[in-house]
Amino acid sequence: MAKQLLGREVAEALEEDSYRRSAALRRLGIAPRLALVRCGEGEDDIAYEKSILRQAARGGVETECHLLPETASPEELKKLLSSISGEAKVHGCLVFRPLPGKLAAEQREICNALLPEKDVDGSTAASVAAVYTGAGAGFPPCTAQACLEMLDYYGIECRGKSVAIIGRSLVVGRPLALLLTARDATVTLCHSRTVNLGDICRRADLIVCAAAKPGLITGDMVSPGQTVLDVSMNFLPELENADGSLGGFVGDTVYEEVEKTVEYISPVPGGLGLVTSAVLIKHVVIAAERSLK
Ligand code: NAP
Repeated sequence: MAKQLLGREVAEALEEDSYRRSAALRRLGIAPRLALVRCGEGEDDIAYEKSILRQAARGGVETECHLLPETASPEELKKLLSSISGEAKVHGCLVFRPLPGKLAAEQREICNALLPEKDVDGSTAASVAAVYTGAGAGFPPCTAQACLEMLDYYGIECRGKSVAIIGRSLVVGRPLALLLTARDATVTLCHSRTVNLGDICRRADLIVCAAAKPGLITGDMVSPGQTVLDVSMNFLPELENADGSLGGFVGDTVYEEVEKTVEYISPVPGGLGLVTSAVLIKHVVIAAERSLK
């Protein structure tokens, strides 16, 4: 039976560190502040916003919420992001993505209206370049960084290890591949056209699942001694909960099969989701610290 990698423990450690550093900044007259920008009333965005607000309070970070209608024009949103960028008292800004409706097509260009120094979730081209080169302003996407924080907290070394990342999106798989490569891991970045996914997974020391495909990773695709980080949050309306209610989240792994073989596994829910918003708060505190210089 695998040891569970619990997001709550990692998130609490990150929150304590953020709170301590925020308090030190306050003593210097700086209150770390995060601006949240939501377009429309998407349920996922609202749920994430609530969880960020709770976590910000625990990390000693002030917040302000900006709401635009889903029908807002790209120009309106860019104007808002430029104005937030110019606000000295705001250190970090998160735009809920993916943007809804017609805004989606121009998402990347819209996000570039934000100053990279305040881009705490890796949404601008400059932040992507910073992850690529390991230098420059900006931050990696919080979910990719959350995977590293999880490994660090549990003392799981990645130097020299082989890693299979399943999913090559710009928010998870691709930046994580670069971050792990920078830590001397050898990464295979898999996607929907990858052949022999089972072989690649069985040979890896670490498997990161971010394909948004429930049931993708089965017991015969894993080996003893492995670590599995399941990033995916797939909502299944038909899932029956312990209290008899219906609807819940699962990852990409068939958990009850995989956990019999591997050494460590992050559960869904209860895994990386909690760590992601704690990383966001940490990034705001770091941005505030950098503003001192
Ligand atoms: P995405 O943009 O839909 O990307 C999915 C990736 O998986 C694509 O690269 C796709 O390949 C690949 N893929 C799909 N089917 C596959 C298969 N059968 N075999 C191998 N690869 C396959 O998703 P995302 O935005 O990266 O999100 C991934 C998951 O992470 C989602 O469940 C999301 O909810 C979750 N997530 C969680 C957090 C968190 O805080 N924990 C944050 C962000 C996202 P192609 O490129 O070939 O299409």
